[in-house]
Amino acid sequence: MKLIFLGAPGSGKGTQAEVVTNKYGIPSVSTGNILREAVKNGTKSGLEAKKYMDAGDLVPDSVVIGILKDKIAGDDCKNGFILDGFPRTVAQAEALEEMGVEIDKVVNISVADEKIAGRMGDRRVCQDCGASYSVTYKPPKAEGVCDSCGGKVAQRDDDKPETVKSRLAIYHDKTAPLIGFYEKRGKLVTVEGQEEIADTSKLVFAALE
Ligand code: AMP
Repeated sequence: MKLIFLGAPGSGKGTQAEVVTNKYGIPSVSTGNILREAVKNGTKSGLEAKKYMDAGDLVPDSVVIGILKDKIAGDDCKNGFILDGFPRTVAQAEALEEMGVEIDKVVNISVADEKIAGRMGDRRVCQDCGASYSVTYKPPKAEGVCDSCGGKVAQRDDDKPETVKSRLAIYHDKTAPLIGFYEKRGKLVTVEGQEEIADTSKLVFAALE
């Protein structure tokens, strides 16, 4: 099964991708997590990506497409995968088609803009494994410590209020057109993001049946 999770930053797509990963046993591929890891390790693509990420801008298509292509060619992706945060532009979606990747479904998690800032202020992420948490809805069992790997859980720099506004504007400009792109191909299912993670998961599983 090959799935795409689409949605604004802070819509909960990463959290839902993790839930579906656990149930279906297919890996979730987050380009954001791969890029943050590359920045941490100081690799060539990490160094190139950092200035865009810090500003809340999209990393150039050429960099992200290359990273994604390498990742899904890996053995762990041979039975399927969930793409979380890719594609984010029509050019990326076209590149995926050119790679010959047949997507089964695109789950679009819809959340009103007014709710996004609050959700992003609430979000915390493990700096080692990328697992997502929420101060209100899904705090780690021990404060600041990842339940899965024991890594440090903290707020992402680009989740701070000054960056959130521009990330949302970029989402509407560059990423939201993908809703129509996949609708035309008959792949799109839209789920209204709920307050509680488990309530959204129920809708996501129903949409995947
Ligand atoms: P995310 O964790 O998905 O919110 O991604 C964090 C940041 O990584 C984004 O704000 C972008 O700067 C960059 N990024 C992640 N995925 C992509 C992508 N598919 N295309 C361009 N930039 C990306």
